[in-house]
Amino acid sequence: MDLFEGVESLKGIGPKRAEILKKAGIRTLRDFFYNLPRDYENYQAATSIAEMRPGKVVVRGKISELRTRRARRRNLSITEGVVLDDTGAVRVVWFNQSYRARQFEPEKEYFFSGMYEMKNGRWQLTAPSAMLAADVDPSSSLNPVYVAHGKITSRDFRRLYAAARDKFAEIPDLLPGVPAGKRREELFTAHFPETMADATKARKYLAYEELFELLLAARLNRQENEKLRAEIIPFPEAKIRAFVNALPFKLTGAQKRATWQIFQDMGKPTPMNRLLQGDVGSGKTMVAALATYEATLAGGQVAILAPTAILAAQHYENIGPLLGKFGVRTALLTGATKHKPELKKQIRAGEVDVVIGTHALLTDDTEFAQLALVVIDEQHRFGVGQRQKLMLKSPAGLAPHLLAMTATPIPRSLQLTIFGDLDVSILDELPSGRQPVTTKILTEVETKNGLYPEMLRVLSLPPDTKKHGAKAHGQQIYWICKAIEDGDGRESELTSVKKRARRLSEVFPDKVVEFLHGKMKPAEKDAVMARFSAGEIDILVSTTVVEVGVDVPNATLMVIENAESYGLAQLHQLRGRVGRGASAAFCYLITTGDARPSRRLCELEKSCDGFYLAEVDLKLRGPGEIYGALQHGALDLRIASLTDTKLIAQAQIGVNEFLQSGENMLKYQELMAGIKKYQQLTTLN
Ligand code: ADP
Ligand code: MG
Repeated sequence: MDLFEGVESLKGIGPKRAEILKKAGIRTLRDFFYNLPRDYENYQAATSIAEMRPGKVVVRGKISELRTRRARRRNLSITEGVVLDDTGAVRVVWFNQSYRARQFEPEKEYFFSGMYEMKNGRWQLTAPSAMLAADVDPSSSLNPVYVAHGKITSRDFRRLYAAARDKFAEIPDLLPGVPAGKRREELFTAHFPETMADATKARKYLAYEELFELLLAARLNRQENEKLRAEIIPFPEAKIRAFVNALPFKLTGAQKRATWQIFQDMGKPTPMNRLLQGDVGSGKTMVAALATYEATLAGGQVAILAPTAILAAQHYENIGPLLGKFGVRTALLTGATKHKPELKKQIRAGEVDVVIGTHALLTDDTEFAQLALVVIDEQHRFGVGQRQKLMLKSPAGLAPHLLAMTATPIPRSLQLTIFGDLDVSILDELPSGRQPVTTKILTEVETKNGLYPEMLRVLSLPPDTKKHGAKAHGQQIYWICKAIEDGDGRESELTSVKKRARRLSEVFPDKVVEFLHGKMKPAEKDAVMARFSAGEIDILVSTTVVEVGVDVPNATLMVIENAESYGLAQLHQLRGRVGRGASAAFCYLITTGDARPSRRLCELEKSCDGFYLAEVDLKLRGPGEIYGALQHGALDLRIASLTDTKLIAQAQIGVNEFLQSGENMLKYQELMAGIKKYQQLTTLN
């Protein structure tokens, strides 16, 4: 069977259904077979309402008294009703599923499967799944439940799989080193299990397959990188020492270690392919500056790529003068740069040593005479294609060394496994004198009473002793807000930022309040940022455009509105904008509504450690999203969990055996095609 044939070839799938499936990402037979049930229900195990015990239950009954109401908290609708059988009645509740109110016919019987528990002093069945009793196949004890897509319901899917039962036997093997026929057996079992244990075992094998592909991809990447050649950059000890001695501070131990690892990599004839991970404020830029200096000493050019114009400008201002002292010629190249053609000519002629820029660096007409090192800041902000463009700008036959930097830590548990083949340096030490940012969750009420006086206090503190804009009278504040859906229409980013800025200028009439948002022109953004950095603005109201890398040590307080609506990693990043100076710093997370703050926010309140928070995030959200945030294009592991270290270790062994066996990889065509997508994800260049 050709697994890459379209789903139209299956019984029961015409053009209309094929279209719906396509939208859901189910295009081929392979996609179809791997569209595993999201759950299995055991309707045979239904109990009567009178016999229900707390915990997960299945009951069979009719439903009545359905109604939907809005909760006091905005954006929450509650649909409730009563399920009845011959033995009794139980209250059911769904949240934000108002379609439930229309889903049921009062005369018909359904199976309800959900948690039976005590909530607010009452027993209830919470958010059960529901299945028309007449639709349940009485002969099978476990009923697979599929995610519905458009008009194709879970029941439709069950019928489609039943119709395709015979096809399973034709599924070819995928992996080396496993018994023949294993794959099709386990796929079949995943769709038609007899017991829960069978289903679990089948899914485990399928997860193994997935991990095998991912790990193999990482290994092949490494092998490919080792085939490339790069310029050898020697280590001129005395000159580096002089540079380090000229810095306004002492390097942290972590910075020294990372720099040393980088120097060693660049001293080799294979290109460096290193990820520098450091929590926000850990001083990654300085490590990059040292690598840059060494590369220029060897006569090479360096390209430093930053995701935003603000960040590129900031790097240029920070490391430009530093490098300049040692005769390194640095230029800034962003969309707003004037005289671009002249600058590009100079770069081409090798008259500029270091170019710091944004996407503007990637254009075809930006050519280098001798590109030796590429530094990518906040590398997850760039797509694979964009990164690759820059890598191709090195002289013929040579690849540049690559240093990618990220403040989104890869949880250590993944580090050792999935990313085992990646060279990683970690800055796990903040420069001395930093204090953790005091973080506090505020409800709307607390905000009203306490926040403004607190802001006023900070605004009146003497400017931070570290580096502050000459014009600062007091310390400065970030106020983060985002476009929020307000009543009937979508409020734009602009109006919400503007509105907040106006309100704050009313509250603090003698302070300068300005705003920043993503829709502004780069030059406008830079101008506002520059003024904030110089201390001319007291309160900067902004969307998350200040999220990455911005460094204004005199800003010591951050307020984040609607904190609930951001992810943990993003909140940690945002918070990292404060606490960069010598003064105490604060972060207030404003939540709306009267719900208890989420686990996410509570963890953030407790900890400032990015690596710890990354582990928490991994547990809370699952790795797909983490990896997705880390690398453009989500890694959509369908089945495996990247936290399953045992299974990962097994897959690692399988991959090793395969690579050592010397078997011809071309024999495993589907496998090779499958790992292509992972190869792009696990490589930096
Ligand atoms: P990030 O790792 O978040 O990119 P930066 O490179 O922007 O952090 O550094 C944050 C701040 O710390 C900058 O103001 C930088 O000058 C300062 N810094 C870097 N290294 C040190 C150090 N060893 N000692 C003191 N301050 C440092
Ligand atoms: Mg940075």
